[in-house]
Amino acid sequence: MIVVMRPGTTEQDVEEIVARLGQWGLKAHVSRGTERTVIGVIGERTEEVVRLASLQTVEQVVPVRRPYKLVSREFHPENTVIRVGRAAFGTGEVVMMPGPCAVESREQVMAVAELARDLGCPVLRGGAYKPRTSPYSFQGLGVEGLRILAEARERYGLAIITEAVDHESLKYVAEYADIVQIGTRNMQNFELLKAVGQIGRPVLLKRGMAATIDEWLMAAEYVAAHGNPDIILCERGIRTYEPKTRNTLDLSAVPVLKQLTHLPVVVDPSHATGQWSLVEPMALAAVAAGADGLLIEAHPNPAEALSDGPQSLNLPNLTHLVENVSRVAAALGRRL
Ligand code: PEP
Ligand code: MN
Repeated sequence: MIVVMRPGTTEQDVEEIVARLGQWGLKAHVSRGTERTVIGVIGERTEEVVRLASLQTVEQVVPVRRPYKLVSREFHPENTVIRVGRAAFGTGEVVMMPGPCAVESREQVMAVAELARDLGCPVLRGGAYKPRTSPYSFQGLGVEGLRILAEARERYGLAIITEAVDHESLKYVAEYADIVQIGTRNMQNFELLKAVGQIGRPVLLKRGMAATIDEWLMAAEYVAAHGNPDIILCERGIRTYEPKTRNTLDLSAVPVLKQLTHLPVVVDPSHATGQWSLVEPMALAAVAAGADGLLIEAHPNPAEALSDGPQSLNLPNLTHLVENVSRVAAALGRRL
């Protein structure tokens, strides 16, 4: 249930309702908007909550039909804004997050980081723990990779996003990363989601490759329900019958999510397409569709990449992409 307060109600009015809910054993989630305060109610005392509508301070009490609550737009009508370093997700800014698929060496990371800084991108991506489909593929440099990312952060003033693949890697990733990435394969690893709920750092939650939007939002609800409201959703393509691209980029997920949730939504056109030549067109389309940012794989020498070379942009192509994203953003009254 949601209790919508009348415009102009005081902090004391809100506290009074929260206290009543507490007496009934219900949890309240207060969202203060510019016009109205909305109190989301978690728990099942429908009859009592409905009666709150008779109070002078309450405009209406409405049921929430969706299974997710904390992440729903109904509970929290205004966009959640997540600030990380120079980046602000959820403000209309297009947050650029380029970087290699995997951290391979200092030189490789510094080359991309330097260009990212020069292009004005605020966040650097790079995997130190890699969830590879084959056990024989490069699995990442682990803590050594995290140290290289931390060095790039210091040197180029970038925030770092990197993936945790399990509880063990999460311990280290939470120590080094500014944003913790949870990959497509772990979207429904509920124990990991609970742990991520407790790290006190923003989380980027990728869509499971076969997950519906509701399942994805329930995964986000796990993170929120365990104490972490700073969740960025990332559409990275889903499995369909079409083999011409690695996955099918579900761009309609962006405006659908904007209706359903207050969380920022970003797009990863690299894993979605699997081919570098398709990355820029889909990046531009993602910005036009309303994405709050882009996760882009880039490598100084894609032909020699230890993972995802075919979808990685070389540095001139990354420059080209950022310039064109900037044009599309400007046409929409947005900025990088
Ligand atoms: C990644 O971004 O490094 C990655 C492994 O992506 P995904 O989880 O979307 O496959
Ligand atoms: Mn990759």
